[in-house]
Amino acid sequence: ISSVELTQLYLDRINRLNPAINAYVSTQPERSLAQAKAADARLAAGDAGPLTGIPLAQKDIFCAEGWLTTCGSKMLANFVSPYDATVIQKFDAAGAVNLGKTNMDEFAMGSSNETSFFGPVKNPWDQSRVPGGSSGGSAAAVAARLAPAATGTDTGGSIRQPAALCNLTGLKPTYGVVSRWGMIAFASSLDQAGPMARSAEDCGLLLNAMAGFDPKDSTSLERPVEDYTRELNAPAAAKPLAGLKIGLPKEFFGEGCDAAVMAAIQAAIEQYKALGAEMVEVSLPNMKLSVPAYYVIAPAEASSNLSRFDGVRYGYRAPEYDSLDDMYAKSRAQGFGAEVKRRILIGTYVLSHGYYDAYYLQAQRIRRLIAEDFVAAFKQCDVILGPTSPSTAFKLGDKAGDPVQMYLSDIYTIAVNLAGLPGMSLPCGFAEGLPVGLQLIGNYFDEARLLNVAHRYQ
Ligand code: GLN
Repeated sequence: ISSVELTQLYLDRINRLNPAINAYVSTQPERSLAQAKAADARLAAGDAGPLTGIPLAQKDIFCAEGWLTTCGSKMLANFVSPYDATVIQKFDAAGAVNLGKTNMDEFAMGSSNETSFFGPVKNPWDQSRVPGGSSGGSAAAVAARLAPAATGTDTGGSIRQPAALCNLTGLKPTYGVVSRWGMIAFASSLDQAGPMARSAEDCGLLLNAMAGFDPKDSTSLERPVEDYTRELNAPAAAKPLAGLKIGLPKEFFGEGCDAAVMAAIQAAIEQYKALGAEMVEVSLPNMKLSVPAYYVIAPAEASSNLSRFDGVRYGYRAPEYDSLDDMYAKSRAQGFGAEVKRRILIGTYVLSHGYYDAYYLQAQRIRRLIAEDFVAAFKQCDVILGPTSPSTAFKLGDKAGDPVQMYLSDIYTIAVNLAGLPGMSLPCGFAEGLPVGLQLIGNYFDEARLLNVAHRYQ
């Protein structure tokens, strides 16, 4: 099959099924097909890599030249980016085809996709349920076969949680492995882009294209280029994971997780034992502080990052105003949704004189303690295993009115971002007909091993 045929096949499916799922915010079929044609020429010339001609969906947080780049917000609903994010450039260079931009929670703030200005995304497994968030459009697109794979970003769980709720494999790399240049910033010290796909192998192929040092991102890490799929093709052995120590943090196995989800996780643990892995109990005593610390640090950074949306340089401007200050105020009041405003208010509060020490500094101290917990745990084990999300996909509207309930859906994912570690979610069966995600957390730069541990299970 040629890339043009493959791309056309996906575009037809998008046409037919996207109105119900709402996974894509924008497509440009002619541009996608032109890219596919160029990829076919490269294939014919023998100048092709593993992604040449492969159509991919891009989360609408990545700037892509000539594409609407909305970040799920009214603020950017008409913003056409004049340049490509590094991630987009890298996929272009690899010859991948951009199928379109996917729906997401507004500015990546949310766990259900319900904060999007473009309306909620439906979970393809049950359209009365959420796909997770914030990368819910990407997850739904791959799950509904409207794309073979997609990009996501993960500040507190936004790749792993939607991957779990939609039965996908998703990887958040070590902080600094993938360039953030051209990726609209939410909380810069936590944001990291990564792949969402149907298998660990596909995630590895995408990560190979995405990763790498970028002088345009000051937190990008200068490291040798890696092949993240290098461990996947080792000859199959009876016990392919013999010698691997898997840490089970007792904090992941206490209260707070649905019994049906836990049953699927326990079954996965048995399977890992059969593959030769050894289970060791570990502890992350400060895990319980991760949600409160995150909801100080992430809004603090967001309140600073979002100050650029002032109605002057780009984005939404209120049609009527009395003065410059009034223009700022009205543009922001009308352009941002409720969750984004809540975060800006929390963020400016915790950074304000008199509260900075009590909230922001304390949260930074907790962040350090959480990172140290992981350092100690990784002295006893190679990877950490637990649930990705405490529940399967919930009903649309169920948590939309209760921010704290929504925030708690990330209890198992947020600590990983605070520590900057790589983490992934992979499918581990179903509970009452809905997908369950298994989370694997690795030590810094251990993506290749994580992918292999996921691959052996699949
Ligand atoms: N759900 C979390 C939040 O709302 C994480 C989102 C994300 O990872 N972008 O902040």
